[in-house]
Amino acid sequence: MRGKELRERLWRRYREIREPWMRWVLRVQDEALSALRDFLRVEGFVEILAPIVGPVTDPGIRGAKQFSIDYYGHRFKVMSSMILYKQMAVSSLDKVFALSPNLRLEPLEAAYTGRHLAEFRQLDLEVAEASYLDLMELGERLLIYVLRRIRRECGEELENLGRELRIPSKPFRRLTHGEAVELLRGEGFDLKPGEEIPWEAEEHISAMFQEPLWIMDYPITARGFYDREDPERPGILRDFDLLYPEGYGEAISGGEREYQYERVLARMKARGDNPEEYGWYLEMLREGVKPSAGFGIGVERLTRYLCGLKYIWDAVPFPKVPGIPSP
Ligand code: ASP
Ligand code: MG
Repeated sequence: MRGKELRERLWRRYREIREPWMRWVLRVQDEALSALRDFLRVEGFVEILAPIVGPVTDPGIRGAKQFSIDYYGHRFKVMSSMILYKQMAVSSLDKVFALSPNLRLEPLEAAYTGRHLAEFRQLDLEVAEASYLDLMELGERLLIYVLRRIRRECGEELENLGRELRIPSKPFRRLTHGEAVELLRGEGFDLKPGEEIPWEAEEHISAMFQEPLWIMDYPITARGFYDREDPERPGILRDFDLLYPEGYGEAISGGEREYQYERVLARMKARGDNPEEYGWYLEMLREGVKPSAGFGIGVERLTRYLCGLKYIWDAVPFPKVPGIPSP
């Protein structure tokens, strides 16, 4: 669905929201939100309130742009993700999560991938003194818990939506970024080793599998300054993405964090980020934070996967699709 047709549909959301399918989707989403919270509370996480604006935000947002507002004469960014704030909170509470609203100016073409919104929520979590492997294990348990809950509590909605959900087994398959690039080259994609995997290739690899798939160990040139470089394997990051199967694409992004002032500064410089723009964040690092690892899981993408929806804008009550005006 494109252009005029999509515009018209989104503009009339006040009609669509009353349709039975939309009610089924929103009930599944409600159950998923409860499930995420219940799971994390039992694991000892503390829920914190996410910021909406601040002087700095996530710079590593894959081709999307940040935007700013005037805040009493200061340029404040609208949160593209609260990653830098998680590092602040985790030094106090050890295990934190937030249901965080994010805004990103995605390129206009992203409107038509079916899985990009300009406004979305992610469940963002962070664990002090943890490794990225710990977080991958947590991510597997979290996803399986949510899938089981939805199957148990939302059987009727799933049936109405024509969705059959498989419960994957642990551990999920793991590919390094290098292995994923090799596999995709074999499928005819022209990919370079040091780069982020483009959307079409990600969708393709996700469609090759019937169970979720980890891609880990991204090259340093593919990601932002906060994913930690492996001290034993220079140039390789201790990070990961989880892809849903069946072509639904990215579920989770995360990793260990660079947390030492000097390292972060060097990484910023290497990427061409201006350290002067990171005021409080760099001052905080200079005083010291706990090492940590964490990830974010997009709520609308999770809902889309759970409900088997073709388009992400049907997985949120009031969608904002790049470039398209809607309520
Ligand atoms: N918040 C990050 C993102 O938006 C995910 C993470 O690394 O925790 O990609
Ligand atoms: Mg990501």
